[in-house]
Amino acid sequence: MVRPNRFYDVRRIGPVQVGSYNDGRGRTKHTAACTAPGCGFSADYNDRPAAELAARTHRCNP
Ligand SMILES: [Zn+2]
Repeated sequence: MVRPNRFYDVRRIGPVQVGSYNDGRGRTKHTAACTAPGCGFSADYNDRPAAELAARTHRCNP
């Protein structure tokens, strides 16, 4: 699981954690990553609301 040290404002929505980080080029990125075992969902977004929406609507694959 990719967890840059610069993650801030980490929030848990269901099994999904949303965190924001600076990509080192002056831009803020937002990651949604599922913590459920065996799921493996993880995605980057340019907008925080998009990441939170993805977290809220995420359904784990069986
Ligand atoms: Zn999941």
